[in-house]
Amino acid sequence: MERTFVMIKPDGVQRRLVGTIIARFERKGLKLVGLKLLRLTEEKAAQLYSIHRERPFFSELVRFVTSGPVVVMVWEGPGAVAIVRRIIGATDAASAEPGTVRGDFGLSVQMNLVHASDSPMSVARELPLLFSQDELVDYEMADAEWLGRSDE
Ligand code: UDP
Ligand code: MG
Repeated sequence: MERTFVMIKPDGVQRRLVGTIIARFERKGLKLVGLKLLRLTEEKAAQLYSIHRERPFFSELVRFVTSGPVVVMVWEGPGAVAIVRRIIGATDAASAEPGTVRGDFGLSVQMNLVHASDSPMSVARELPLLFSQDELVDYEMADAEWLGRSDE
């Protein structure tokens, strides 16, 4: 089953939007398989955003995501990577569609509340930076058959 890595950024925690954001993924029918509150080290943040190392916003971005605690999560479901990207919305919260997390709660391109892996390849790189295998919980959801999509 497809898994994706998601992180509520420091602005989401400071604005007390953790529950609200998690609820968006839950109500869609995705399954939570990993969850932690922690503060990223500068090194971890730089690794997570290493593809942006040469971009002008990189150092500011690292400063921002290390400025307070974040909530890191792993969500599971068929097509979870693309579904979560659609739920969070476009990068620039000011122009993100209403109904998306960024579109409903943000105004900034940097403080856009949430990170989510953009492809299965990104999941393979990002997820192990924040979770060890024994922090991912294997279990069945009681309502799985009512959501109408099987594992395959
Ligand atoms: N970002 C920024 N300035 C920009 C573009 C991006 O500060 O001009 C930040 C923003 O927080 C964004 C993160 O860098 O979420 C990673 O950028 P990316 O293009 O990968 O956007 P995402 O995948 O988060 O939508
Ligand atoms: Mg990205």
